[in-house]
Parts: sequence; C-alpha cells; structure tokens
Amino acid sequence: MTSLDDLPLRPELRGRTPYGAPQVPAAHRLNTNENPHPLPDELLADLGAALGSAALDLNRYPDRDAVALRADLATYLTRTGGQPIEPGQVWAGNGSNEVLQQILQAFGGAGRTALGFTPSYSMHPIIAAGTGTGWVDGHRAADFTIDPGAAVAQLREAAPDVVFVTSPNNPTGTAVDLDTVAALYEATPGVLVVDEAYAEFARTGTPSALTLLPGRPRLVVSRTMSKAFGMAGLRLGYLAADPAVVDAIQLVRLPYHLGSLTQAAARAALAHTDALLATVDAVKAQRDRIVDALPSMGLTSVPSDANFVLFGHVADASAAWRALLDRGVLVRDVGLPGWLRVTAGTPAETDAFLTALGEIAPDHRTTLGD
Ligand SMILES: *Cc1c(COP(=O)(O)O)cnc(C)c1O
Repeated sequence: MTSLDDLPLRPELRGRTPYGAPQVPAAHRLNTNENPHPLPDELLADLGAALGSAALDLNRYPDRDAVALRADLATYLTRTGGQPIEPGQVWAGNGSNEVLQQILQAFGGAGRTALGFTPSYSMHPIIAAGTGTGWVDGHRAADFTIDPGAAVAQLREAAPDVVFVTSPNNPTGTAVDLDTVAALYEATPGVLVVDEAYAEFARTGTPSALTLLPGRPRLVVSRTMSKAFGMAGLRLGYLAADPAVVDAIQLVRLPYHLGSLTQAAARAALAHTDALLATVDAVKAQRDRIVDALPSMGLTSVPSDANFVLFGHVADASAAWRALLDRGVLVRDVGLPGWLRVTAGTPAETDAFLTALGEIAPDHRTTLGD
C-alpha cells in the first residue's frame, strides 16, 4: 500500500491530519454547531422552483461575479449589521472556508505569516498551511479572552500579514469587543479578518465588526449561511470589506467558482431570511438553558455568544466525551484539557444532553481551579 510518505508531498504538510470532527453514529449529534431545525416549508417550495429554473441554464457557466447574490447579501448585512454595505463590498464563496482561503491566497502565501488567537477555529491554521502561509499562535488570557494590551504588543512584534479574530470565538463562544478589534487593526499593517460565523447568535447588544468597516480598508468581516441560516449543506460563505479587497480576491479566485445552483439556492434562501432566522432565538434559549444548568452539576462554562457552550471542568476531556457518547450524546473534544464543547439545538437535544451530563458529572467533574 502506498502511504503519504511515499509521495512527493510538500514538506510542511507531512505528518498533518485532515480537519474533521469524528463522524460517529449517535442519537444526538451535538458536535458541529449546525442548526437542527428543518428549513421552513415555504423555502423548500421556492428552492425547488429556483433550482429548476437555474437548471435550464446549466449548459452555461454561472455568473462569475455572482452579482445578484452579492447584492442580496449586501441587503441582508445592511439590514442587520447597523451599517450600509454595498454589493461591491461583498464577496461570496463555497462556504466561508473558501473565502478565508482566498484571503490567504491573496494576502498570505510563501514567506508571509498569519496569526490567530488560539484556542480558536482550527481551520485557520490549516488553511494557512494549505496556502503556504506561516502560522503564529496569538495569546489569550486564562479565561480565553483576548487581552488588548498583550495582543497589540504581540502584533507589533510579529507583524503578521493576516490576523484572524473569531468573534464570537469557536470553541470558547465569547464575542470580542469592538474596541479590541479596532486596537488590533491599528497594531498591524496586515489584513485583519474578523470571522463572524456565529454573529447572529450573539447576545443582545453585541455589535458586529461591520460597523468598523468605514475607513478601515484592511478590515474583512466573514460570515456564513452554515450556522444561523441552517444551511450548512449549501456551502455558502461571504465577506464584507472595502471594494479593493474584493478586487484583490478576484486575482486568486478560480473562474466560475460558485455554481449556478448554489447561487440560485442561496438567493432563494435569502428571500426567506426572516423565516430562516426565526429559530435563532429558540437556539439561544437552549444555549442559555445549558449555561444555567451547569452550576447545579458542579460544572461551569465560558460566556457564550454562539450556538454552543464550552463546558468544564472535567478531569479528563476524552473520558468524559466517551461517557457522554455511551449515553447517545456526541459532543466535541476540541483538545482543550478540562473542557468539552456542546452545540445548542432543540429542547429535546438539550434534555438528552443535560440528562447524560447529570449522570456522568459526579464521576468526571473536577473542582474549579484544579
Ligand atoms: C463553522 C465555522 C465556519 C463556517 O465555515 P463554512 O465554510 O462557511 O461552513 C467559519 N468559521 C468558524 C469560526 C466556524 O466555526
């Protein structure tokens, strides 16, 4: 059998493992932060019609610049972000992961570095490796927040070409305040990417970095339809930035990267934004229910603005993960000692999770500060 070692693989990819949560069968899959609510019936009907009519033109390449879709996305961001966004400021791809990859292709690459504040989204360093971009781990405080003074000092010293700030952060859940984002922007000559995959779940009063875009041409805000919109299977992510950033991405994007069916489906979905986002409050209620239930089990959590909760302290994260799985509940072991991450979904899923956690907590918890 040929192994990777037998292939002339790029040296920096040797020994790496592909991204991926274990896809193990479980009654309750609370490990990948999807929205469990089914799509609204009215959208399903429209999707069929939209895809049918897009199919008539499948002999032709799609709109290379996805002009109509970007206009719809700009309308959505303008409506919810507290900031007018023009279609020329928006770029869309097959999931925000593709958009992030395009950003690194344009602004990172060989001889350049990206910095992200770990623990954070594990795909950022993986996309950096894939684009030949060096990676620097940014520091967080013990409570997983970004200390602005320390972060600014680190950026001045490391001078990365691209900085990632995930807000709300995955896997810890907490949003980063805009003063910190603005200070980080000033501290770097590079591109600052605020990954807002979970923005729609933020607690009331948490503003989006979209409001910081005017006058900051190196600031990029990335979003996705995979989480709050409940359309992870669609693969549609996007960014908002200065139009010059969009021009830069055009230099590296593959021609016709976003298929006509994807563009049509995304536009149909955006026409039902209100119905799609109607589940967000219900999911937030389940998140808060999880947070509120933990102390009575002798457990704690990190404040969450997302659709998941990082909970602890468990003595052995992988043993606790296994004990929950044995009870039919699949959560995520994100590799942080003492912590596990659970996705907030339906009330029934929360019931199952809290029941299982209540059973295992006495054997698996550790005292605070251990
Ligand atoms: C889930 C997630 C994404 C979404 O990626 P898509 O490619 O749009 O599905 C992006 N960033 C973070 C931090 C995430 O957790």
